[in-house]
Amino acid sequence: MREIIPLTPTGPAPMPAPIPASNLPGPETVWLYPKLDDFQITANFALREFHCRCRKKSCHFTLVHPKLVESLQTLRDRLARPLFLTSGFRCRIYNRIVGGSLRSYHTRGMAADVLCAGGEDWEELAGAAADVPAIGGIGRYPGRGVIHLDVRPRERGELPIAWSA
Ligand SMILES: [Zn+2]
Repeated sequence: MREIIPLTPTGPAPMPAPIPASNLPGPETVWLYPKLDDFQITANFALREFHCRCRKKSCHFTLVHPKLVESLQTLRDRLARPLFLTSGFRCRIYNRIVGGSLRSYHTRGMAADVLCAGGEDWEELAGAAADVPAIGGIGRYPGRGVIHLDVRPRERGELPIAWSA
């Protein structure tokens, strides 16, 4: 059983300290939250935006990597407009349902899909994301109208991995 961070039920909760998720690869830590709780985790993002979309009763927890929320907030500040997430954390079952890759960064709380209107919006978002140092992967999905962003490790001075589906 993983350790669960207790949260205050009402009002803005203080940012919990990261806890190690020992079943995840690498030395990184992630934040683990009970799915039913809701609060602001940055100035403009609420925890619920990162919840798995599967609606299964067995899906109780949300993994969120601190680098992901910090990067999205940085991006949001630079663009000075709201970013709408269509997918954040995915439990393994939901990841399989949506056809995500087996080791998808979504299952590790390290990825989010941002709704994108296309055209200039597309270029602006992808360009601004590439300038956020912790963002290591940028995928364009025109069919779904989203840009996938993840915080996979990125070498200093190198560009993020980018692809189009
Ligand atoms: Zn789920």
